[in-house]
Order: sequence, then C-alpha cells, then structure tokens
Amino acid sequence: MVRRARKIYRALGEVYYYAHPELDFENPFQLLVATVLSAQTTDLRVNQTTPKLFAAYPTPEDLAAADPAVLEELIRPTGFFRNKARSLIGLSTELRDRFGGEVPGRLEDLVTLPGVGRKTAHVVLGNAFDRPGITVDTHFQRLVRRWRWTEQEDPVKIEAEVAEIFPRKDWTTLSHRVIFHGRRICHARKPACGACPIAHLCPAYGEGETDPEKARALLKYEMGGQPGQRLKPPPDYPGRPAPPLGARAGG
Ligand code: SF4
Repeated sequence: MVRRARKIYRALGEVYYYAHPELDFENPFQLLVATVLSAQTTDLRVNQTTPKLFAAYPTPEDLAAADPAVLEELIRPTGFFRNKARSLIGLSTELRDRFGGEVPGRLEDLVTLPGVGRKTAHVVLGNAFDRPGITVDTHFQRLVRRWRWTEQEDPVKIEAEVAEIFPRKDWTTLSHRVIFHGRRICHARKPACGACPIAHLCPAYGEGETDPEKARALLKYEMGGQPGQRLKPPPDYPGRPAPPLGARAGG
C-alpha cells in the first residue's frame, strides 16, 4: 500500500506539476482570512471577493475595528457571511491583542483563533510559513479512502495515518496534488475514471464514469478547458486565470 501510495503521489506530480494553493493571497494574514472565507464555498468565489475586502481592511487592526454590517456585505458572496464576519473580527482582535498584529506561525497558536481549526491552520502554515502540513479537507478525505491509504473517517486520524506514509517535507505538496485531483477529476458523486491518468494505480477505478468520452466531459477547471480558480495563478499554471466577479464564468 505504501509503495502504491507513493507511486500515486509521483504520478499526480506529473499531472499537476503546477499544483498550488488556489486562494489568492500576498501575506499570511490574507491567506488566513481567505481560508476562513473558503468554508462551504469555492476558492474561486473567495478570490472574487477578497480584492475589495483586503483593500478595505489591509491589516488585522483594520479588520478588528470593522463595522460588522459593512463587513458582512463585503463577504456576502461567500455564504454564511454572518458567522464568517464574526470569526474574522474575532480572530483579528486576537491577532491584535495577543500576537502583536501578526499571524503566529505555530499550529497550537493558530487553532486558538476564532473560526480556525486544524485544516485552516495547516493551509496557513504550509503555504505562508513553509511549515509542512497535511490539509484534510473533503477532497482529501474522499480520495485517500478511495485509494485505501486509510480506513479512518476522523480527519485528525486520517492526517496521522497519511503522515506515516510520506516524509514531512512532502506533506504540503501532497495536499495540493490530492485536492487538485479531487476538484478536477476524482469528484465526489461521479469521478471521471475513464479520463483519469492514475486509473492504473487506483483500487477504486470504476466507481465513476469509465467511458473515456463521457468521462472527459466531467473534467473541471483547466482539465476541462475552463478557467482556474485563481485570479492571479502562478506562472507555470497551464490554464486560464479565473474571471473577476461579475465577468462571465468560462469566458
Ligand atoms: S480511477 Fe476513478 S476513483 Fe480512481 S482516482 Fe481516478 S477518478 Fe478517482
């Protein structure tokens, strides 16, 4: 299982050599805010929402002092905006009062912030602080179970078991590759098995569409010839950047 898991990791690296965090950010604070906003919505929707938000509140001090009603209106497109506004003001207040206005670079500190769990903390640590972490989101949970890397259902236990298979230095990249695959090809309801480049390594092949043509029609983002999620993707991204809010998706 370990050998096959590592083969899948390497094969995904050839397919998604450009795998990257799909939230636009320029500093740890922006990534933390964007990650909190990404709950229950797409990274695309967050990226379309954050430019105005970061322009209005560039620092934790600014966001801590935000008028909740104004903030709610700005983040409304991401859904659950009342809860998210409360979390953002709460975590910014904590950053201001307990951490000198800086995002802390330790898991134990990050998870004490309102609205910040282990998953969000690992996203921030892995991508803004270069501290490797495994991000067990819904895609990661589904795919590693399809690949039989673990039988666990609890995210913390999944994280621990997968961490045993891969060296620490690979954890963040592993998370990106697996999440990319889940978003583009190995979907929850209908995985595109017939168009999957790692089908030969997958014990769950056949759980989804195996007809190559029908499977190709299921591919998303750059794999399906559509724009990606980032308005500012990294230079090696082979697809098109996402359209800003209000522009036609797919255009
Ligand atoms: S073969 Fe199917 S189930 Fe396996 S990784 Fe590919 S899309 Fe997912």
